[in-house]
Amino acid sequence: GSDWQGKNITVAGLGVSGVSAARALAGLGASVTVVDGGSSAGHEERATALRADGISVRLGDAATLPPGTDLVVTSPGWPPSAPLFAAAAEAGVDVVGDVEIAWRLRGPDAAPWLAVTGTNGKTTTTQMLASILEAEGLRTAAVGNIGTPIVDVVLEGDDAYDVLAVELSSYQLHWAPSLRAHSAAVLNLAPDHLDWHGSMEAYAADKGRVYEGNQVACVYNAYATGKPSTEDLVRGADVEEGCRAIGFTLNAPAPSQLGVVDGILVDRAFVPDRQKQAQELAEISDVRPPAPHNIANALAAAALARAFGVRATAVRDGLRAFRPDAHRIEHVADVAGVAYVDDSKATNTHAAQASLAAYEPIVWIAGGLAKGATFDELVEGAAKRLRGVVLIGADRALIREALARHAPEVPVVDLDRTDTGAMSEAVRRAAELAEPGDTVLMAPACASMDMFTNYNKRGEAFADAVRELGSTRA
Ligand code: ADP
Repeated sequence: GSDWQGKNITVAGLGVSGVSAARALAGLGASVTVVDGGSSAGHEERATALRADGISVRLGDAATLPPGTDLVVTSPGWPPSAPLFAAAAEAGVDVVGDVEIAWRLRGPDAAPWLAVTGTNGKTTTTQMLASILEAEGLRTAAVGNIGTPIVDVVLEGDDAYDVLAVELSSYQLHWAPSLRAHSAAVLNLAPDHLDWHGSMEAYAADKGRVYEGNQVACVYNAYATGKPSTEDLVRGADVEEGCRAIGFTLNAPAPSQLGVVDGILVDRAFVPDRQKQAQELAEISDVRPPAPHNIANALAAAALARAFGVRATAVRDGLRAFRPDAHRIEHVADVAGVAYVDDSKATNTHAAQASLAAYEPIVWIAGGLAKGATFDELVEGAAKRLRGVVLIGADRALIREALARHAPEVPVVDLDRTDTGAMSEAVRRAAELAEPGDTVLMAPACASMDMFTNYNKRGEAFADAVRELGSTRA
């Protein structure tokens, strides 16, 4: 703690994580200045609250480094290309994120971290992992990119937890150079956030940082075919001696892997003698929903838990106790024989691919902010399953063009609106396209921020629209 006394720290961004970091560091004796380019009434209000607690706030200038800064703390929304970070580099000042701060604040007896990253499935897997650790009787929490800000969790003290299940985004990993997990998993890798990272290589490299310095296990995806593979990332990482590479697969596992045999999730990695029979962990039906991508999530969570010494029975009990969060392939209602499914959390093409593969025929509601993605592969793969498509949001032309190339016969309704009422019209138009037995699937393959505050709000708007539809049809 005393390392922070008198340090001049500049926090970039007056958002939730910026405010949490600013308060934590000020509480440890640092002299903190928060900078933010905004200067709205909302900004002024938050600034006033911080200033009352002795924290400096500079609004309306996000680019210049306050003189005397010893360390810059970033916020998730800030791209690595932000001028403030260039100014810091120029001045020879380190730039770190909230995860790095949390890591540096841990005491000598702090709970080890089991880390989860990947393009999709992070939250689900982290929560499954926490559920499994709880079933083992361990004191744990799912933290990081979810729940309580990780700095606040660490400040509860070394005694508060036995182990933490930590979800990490590629942004957080980018800015957390000294993080060393007990064990870590990269679930999958597909193009996402490339506008932020600059390239697929840079994105993969940031994900791969989660393996750096792992002590016990680097858990990788042994069945995905994309390049670079998560196994390549393990090979590139500098890990502790004795740390093992553990694969998870939807097929029968090789030694040192977890996988599936005859509908049973099995472990061939953490068994006393590798020649012996695989250890049975759980049945596919213990996993909710039992879709292939989610079985993969369960296997990755199980691998991390087993690396921490958790018993097979706790894996099963933890998976049974787990309930998925809202807006992740959530069945909202049936109206006139048509199922309405909310996968608002499908904010990129890789996620949308998983849910589009799970239904047929589909009336697909898609569109939003593309974040630099292309849609050809997604649309080509789903073309045969599509009854029709309703497009919303800022970047819908990209999807419309991909549909014209790969599914020219599928009817498309292109809603030229981005106001909040658009979702209700989208659902009505989807209902017109759908026939009994179909699924109307809202899996936008895009971020929501062009139309909604976040994906939760988008999912709620969809559910409201479905209820509205149900009441007019009833
Ligand atoms: P994240 O935290 O990485 O965004 P979530 O667990 O919240 O991931 O799931 C986001 C969406 O990604 C889900 O709605 C689902 O459509 C999809 N998804 C979940 N797990 C996987 C996976 N292993 N592979 C592909 N898609 C997945």
